[in-house]
Amino acid sequence: MIPVSKAKEIVLNNLFKPDIISIPITESVATVLQETICADRDFPPFDRVSMDGIAIDANQWKSNTPMPIEGMQAAGSARQALHNTRHCIEVMTGAMLPQHTNAVIPYEDIRIEEKNGHRIAIISEKPEPGKNVHRQGIDRKNGELLMEKGALLGPPEIAVLASVGKNMVKVSRFPKIALITTGDELVDIEATPLPYQIRKSNVYALDAALRGMRLQPEHFHFADEQNIMKAGIAKVLSDFDVLVLSGGVSKGKKDFVPEALEACGVKTLFHRVQQKPGKPFWFGAAPTGKIVFALPGNPVSTFMCFFKYIKPWLLKSLRATQTPELYAILQEEIRFEPPLTYFVQGKMRHDQGVLKIFPMPGQGSGDFASLLPCDGFIELPAQEKIFRKGDYFPFIPFR
Ligand code: AMP
Ligand code: MG
Repeated sequence: MIPVSKAKEIVLNNLFKPDIISIPITESVATVLQETICADRDFPPFDRVSMDGIAIDANQWKSNTPMPIEGMQAAGSARQALHNTRHCIEVMTGAMLPQHTNAVIPYEDIRIEEKNGHRIAIISEKPEPGKNVHRQGIDRKNGELLMEKGALLGPPEIAVLASVGKNMVKVSRFPKIALITTGDELVDIEATPLPYQIRKSNVYALDAALRGMRLQPEHFHFADEQNIMKAGIAKVLSDFDVLVLSGGVSKGKKDFVPEALEACGVKTLFHRVQQKPGKPFWFGAAPTGKIVFALPGNPVSTFMCFFKYIKPWLLKSLRATQTPELYAILQEEIRFEPPLTYFVQGKMRHDQGVLKIFPMPGQGSGDFASLLPCDGFIELPAQEKIFRKGDYFPFIPFR
């Protein structure tokens, strides 16, 4: 049995090595960028009018002197020029600032009147040069680095990709993942279980967690029978990059998973971790580079192992930039004697910028309904027995 820190280290040192693929940006949300992105022109690319109103030369302004309107500069048309600097031009948001002007006065702050068939603007307050003008290159300069490899693509990143003209983007290819359930007591969700049967639920929890990260796993079920399991694993190993199994890794007479994996050439990297829940967790790798997570079948254990180990492993495999660990303040004293890292599920609250966690332990690792009101696990270290209210601990969110 190894400590949690060692297990995590081994997991993070045995990564999937993704190919780099080019995909349309409309399909890129939640993928990991694998090229550097630089500005292809200044941001903004011209002095951009940022309010609807009139453009003037602020240095020529005189209090309450009417300024004849020479014309109109709309967004999406070539730059005009103000011919007489005592005059003004109507301008629309997004237009180029006309030549010989340096400030925009919004309609809200002017009066427009008609005089002898001419429209004039009256500005009562002193305008400031540069006002309501989004200066060329003030946000980013042409050629400037905008995003590095490893960025997790979301709406702001995709907006930047679009603005530099990328309709295709290079990202890490997601691994092909097989989700495998074991256990002769399990039946499909459509079935009416007999008194000694239960419906599969782990596979759907894992499926949902993976789909939340944009992966699309395929599902398999192998009976608790050595030869069936070996044949099934051998087949799946050749077709997938990653196998995630649930159940069959404990000490029961029908727990054949580690044996079957070894028989298929998957080397054990660890079996059993000093943690609760999830002690029987098994992890291995094949010489081909295929990675196998064999999680204990108890639903809360499966769930915890996904968020503690598999999710960070996936993000590191995809070469995503690491995000700092979260910490939360424990809101109730907990005593836990065994020399195991204790992952306690709980409800999270933000309180004036501070993350607080209210433990809601449930009835053990089979009680998956107890996860419903919870938001994540707080990780209580194995070396201590009393965990005080008000102390900080790592927090692993699952929502
Ligand atoms: P095992 O790890 O195979 O000993 O299973 C431990 C417990 O988890 C047993 O009570 C199983 O019935 C339950 N279990 C295993 N796999 C699943 C699953 N896919 N969905 C729900 N419960 C499961
Ligand atoms: Mg089982």
